[in-house]
Amino acid sequence: MHLDAQIADLAARYGALDGADLLRAVIHEAFPGRIAVVSSFGAEAALGLAMVAEVDPATPVIFLNTRKHFPETLAYRDALIARLGLTDVRSVEPDPSAIAGADPDGLLWQRNPDACCYLRKVVPLEESLHGFAAWVTGRKRVHGGSRTALPTLEHDGRRVKINPFARWSQSQIDHAWQARDLPEHPMIPFGYTSVGCMPCTREPVPGGGRRSGRWAEFGKTECGIHGQTWDGGSGGGI
Ligand code: SF4
Repeated sequence: MHLDAQIADLAARYGALDGADLLRAVIHEAFPGRIAVVSSFGAEAALGLAMVAEVDPATPVIFLNTRKHFPETLAYRDALIARLGLTDVRSVEPDPSAIAGADPDGLLWQRNPDACCYLRKVVPLEESLHGFAAWVTGRKRVHGGSRTALPTLEHDGRRVKINPFARWSQSQIDHAWQARDLPEHPMIPFGYTSVGCMPCTREPVPGGGRRSGRWAEFGKTECGIHGQTWDGGSGGGI
């Protein structure tokens, strides 16, 4: 089925669902064995991962280990995996030979952050999603910017993308988080509200949104994995 028709069909069946209800539907009914969750194990990731674990802890979870993460994020990843009982978390790394060729000094993020994200995130993600028909992200409209009109169901040109929290308010997120007594990311006490790679993450700018500290000095707001149709065009992680 063409992806647009597939989205229309999914919307007719599951368009009213969000959160764990939508996760349960897509993991068990729509894409059994053919769906992966992509997670940064960042500031808000624990809630979506907890719900995935409640639905099926064996759901594949892809973590893009760019080799530029805070050590605290890697420790948080390991602690969450143990706490939630996730059994199929795949830490995906960029190809070392590609890094040696395109980013030998590790400073590509400074010279060309789009190229760095492509090398360390976009390409490894596409390779890791091979064989999957759908993937789940943790993006939300409350993040603002290009996410303010985010649908719960979309596609990237190759696969269905599901955003179970797109329509959730901050109070819904906070309530569900507190109900599960989830641990906060270890960088939160240092003032971070969104946590990505270490060189490209700062505290949020005064008056800015939760993600305003990401690539703050570059005028860049997304890493590229959500603006890529995989054929090189630009179109349409928990
Ligand atoms: S977020 Fe920064 S360090 Fe990480 S892949 Fe993108 S440009 Fe590179």
